[in-house]
Amino acid sequence: MAQTTRINARGPWLREAISPGELDQPELVGDPKADICIVGGGLAGLWTAIEIKRRAPATDVAIVEADICGGGASGRNSGMVLSQWAKFAALEAFCGTDGAARLGHHFGESASNIEKFCIEHGIDAEFRRDGWIWGATCPRHVGSWSSILAVLARRDLHPFREISRDEITRQTGTTSFLAGIHDPTAATIHPGKWVRGVRRAALKMGVRIYENSPMTKLVRSSPPVVRTTKGSITAQRVVLTMNAWSLAIPELRSAILVIASEDAVTQPIPDLLEKLGYKEKPLMGDSQLFVTGFRTTGDHRFNPGITGGVIGYGSLGFGNGAGDRFEGRSMRETAIRDCVVRGYPALADVPFADSWYGPIDRTRSGLPLFGALPTHPDIFYGYGFSGNGVATTPIGGRILASLALGSRDEFSACGLVRPPERWLPPEPIRYWGAHMVRAAIKRKDAADHAGKTPGFIVRSLAGLAPGGITTSRVTKN
Ligand SMILES: Cc1cc2nc3c(=O)[nH]c(=O)nc-3n(C[C@H](O)[C@H](O)[C@H](O)COP(=O)(O)OP(=O)(O)OC[C@H]3O[C@@H](n4cnc5c(N)ncnc54)[C@H](O)[C@@H]3O)c2cc1C
Repeated sequence: MAQTTRINARGPWLREAISPGELDQPELVGDPKADICIVGGGLAGLWTAIEIKRRAPATDVAIVEADICGGGASGRNSGMVLSQWAKFAALEAFCGTDGAARLGHHFGESASNIEKFCIEHGIDAEFRRDGWIWGATCPRHVGSWSSILAVLARRDLHPFREISRDEITRQTGTTSFLAGIHDPTAATIHPGKWVRGVRRAALKMGVRIYENSPMTKLVRSSPPVVRTTKGSITAQRVVLTMNAWSLAIPELRSAILVIASEDAVTQPIPDLLEKLGYKEKPLMGDSQLFVTGFRTTGDHRFNPGITGGVIGYGSLGFGNGAGDRFEGRSMRETAIRDCVVRGYPALADVPFADSWYGPIDRTRSGLPLFGALPTHPDIFYGYGFSGNGVATTPIGGRILASLALGSRDEFSACGLVRPPERWLPPEPIRYWGAHMVRAAIKRKDAADHAGKTPGFIVRSLAGLAPGGITTSRVTKN
């Protein structure tokens, strides 16, 4: 029987998006069959289901979700809808120049497609075409974007324009950003209203969703079977869209580092934002390795966020008491506050009304991976969205739909379809190694802000950081 959707201990986006008394989709009980079973009901799983239904409406698609759809990263992100042009170098390494340009345009059109989807399906996700400024808050970070602009310009691609400190101040009210580039296509959404709206659309299209139904075993038989706590689904094809929880699948583990990101919001401060000149203006990111982002919400709260939190261990298990559900407030409010002091000093004393955190599945390049498990041709994976899933999961859904339906097209043939990279060593080396790299990144970011050059070891370890806003130093995979 369906239970009332639990909203306590969830972040503010989901609390605002779920009406009191709303019901979960039923738990999986018994042993039904499906044509395609998707494991994980975040944006990646939902988009895969929708895309399959759009192309082949008679296909019987079932989603099994451990929590509720959107309970993972998709209902707790910062709602920044960003194109992937800043990762063009990595896209080009996997897809070639023409393939990278095609995918770049698809990612770039995501914001418009999200807006259209909201209109078509009556989703009020507070979509705002705010534009994005990628900037620098210290002299050492000025020009962090130069190499990517040069790569793009050589291919006659010009998605960004350079923007001066004065113009940034005019648009956003802060003088802390010394220079930057601007992408006018970027948008913001309300992540909770968005993912719940996408879930509603999937249900309307006939997708069966089982919530509170964690997969406990993936049986690699022919056809494959997904076992849950109280039932199982036998399906011709299985698609795994489990974000950080992909660590539970041995074949997928070595390609991602799981690390938390954190966000906070103030109370509504319309007058202060108005006075500052940052009422409904561009979303912003700096050029630290631990990227900081800022945006405002539809009800005029200030919403800062940072990367570089708790590191996942083993098949998930987070340290510091985080468990694997990421409930409650962020444990790094002081670090978020430091970023506000640096980027928006005028808002440094405004208290946080709430904060939260969630898992990110970082690949080395910062780009997601898709394909069939090396151990089973009918079990597919799509993960590694690396903290940029809002605009990329709709394209990920197209890629996974093509793979699951056996369609030969530009999506199934694209260079993001590739085997999981053997990037990271097994535990406990990866956990302690990741801590050493994270500590080095922190020191490098601090040294950059202080105008100092960190030592060789810190520079070398920080150079192992996976891709963030832009491609990491290592472009292949
Ligand atoms: C704090 C934060 C801020 C972010 N900000 C942004 C942003 O501004 N812009 C942006 O583009 N991206 C952002 N991201 C990243 C973005 O949210 C993700 O890339 C995106 O949501 C990934 O979607 P997903 O479906 O792969 O993952 P998820 O939404 O995490 O979905 C995976 C689902 O799988 C389920 N699952 C796991 N294991 C099992 C199992 N065994 N059985 C059944 N179900 C299972 C989980 O419960 C979960 O619901 C942010 C992320 C965080 C945490």
